[in-house]
Amino acid sequence: MKRTADSRGFVVLCKAKLKSGKVALTQRYMSKDSRLLMRIGVDLGGTKIEGILLFADGEVAEKIRVKTPTEKYRDTVDALCDVVDRLQQSAPSSKYSVGIGTPGALSAATDGKAELMKNCNSICLNGEPLKVDIEKRLGYETRMENDANCFALSEACYGAAQSANTMFGVILGTGTGGGIAINQRLHTGANRIAGEWGHNSIPSAVRELIDGDRLCYCGRRNCIETVLSGRGLKQSHQERTGAALEAMELADLARQGDGAATETIHVYCQQLARCLASVVNVLDPDMIVLGGGLSNIEQLYEDVPGLMKEHVFTDNLLTQLSAPKFGDASGAIGAACLWPLN
Ligand SMILES: [Zn+2]
Repeated sequence: MKRTADSRGFVVLCKAKLKSGKVALTQRYMSKDSRLLMRIGVDLGGTKIEGILLFADGEVAEKIRVKTPTEKYRDTVDALCDVVDRLQQSAPSSKYSVGIGTPGALSAATDGKAELMKNCNSICLNGEPLKVDIEKRLGYETRMENDANCFALSEACYGAAQSANTMFGVILGTGTGGGIAINQRLHTGANRIAGEWGHNSIPSAVRELIDGDRLCYCGRRNCIETVLSGRGLKQSHQERTGAALEAMELADLARQGDGAATETIHVYCQQLARCLASVVNVLDPDMIVLGGGLSNIEQLYEDVPGLMKEHVFTDNLLTQLSAPKFGDASGAIGAACLWPLN
């Protein structure tokens, strides 16, 4: 029976994906108690801002996408808050909780000063007190984390790592980042850098697999990111063959059976396995979930687990390696999960 809003609850419209792939609007009756379990997540990306309203079971009730203003910081704050306001409109009385995923990180607060944004590729955000400004404009508290942490949390709460007690989420894309979730909650650490392995030095066993030292944009030499990012993969192929091919071109060629590309991807699998082995020795996660553009390379899931075994300090490696469940949506889902349900 179709229900309408009454004293015990109300009806929300939500989008459902049909088997045919089409998206249909359906109605869902929410009791007032379950409304309290809905959360807003916003992913602030370099090109788009995506906001979602998330049900407690992980289904997306509503999604809004707008372009990210690139020039002025104020415009970005306004655009993000507008998305939140629009999603809040279906909250009859109190507000839904709001989590925000950002491209960079908030520096740890010291001496009571506001936390400032750093390491953002949307450079107008760097040095700005984004969280404070958003909360001033909205009038209530929000939670904010970088996109690697939001990715890890989305996979831990509703994705590939739901059954894992401890998981490490890895971003392999333009950059190399990571996040740690334990029992479906983020572990952020004293300096708020937990999981940020991209700027650790590569192990000597990986240095043997590249021609020369690689300078990282952060000023250090031979960071993991210089090898495992898309650019790192491109450079590895160039060192071996002289050809300048983008990471995904290499992956496509390898899939088609190209010998040189297959060999480069195999070397990348060795590099990834050896870098991940040191994470396993410290964190010993139940599962590692790969994200970012390079996580689409299927060979990683076939080759890396076996290659890792030789470098982890155990005779029986139980840590699983998994592809992500969520693609682009992971940022907003993870951001919503920054407020746990209980
Ligand atoms: Zn670095």
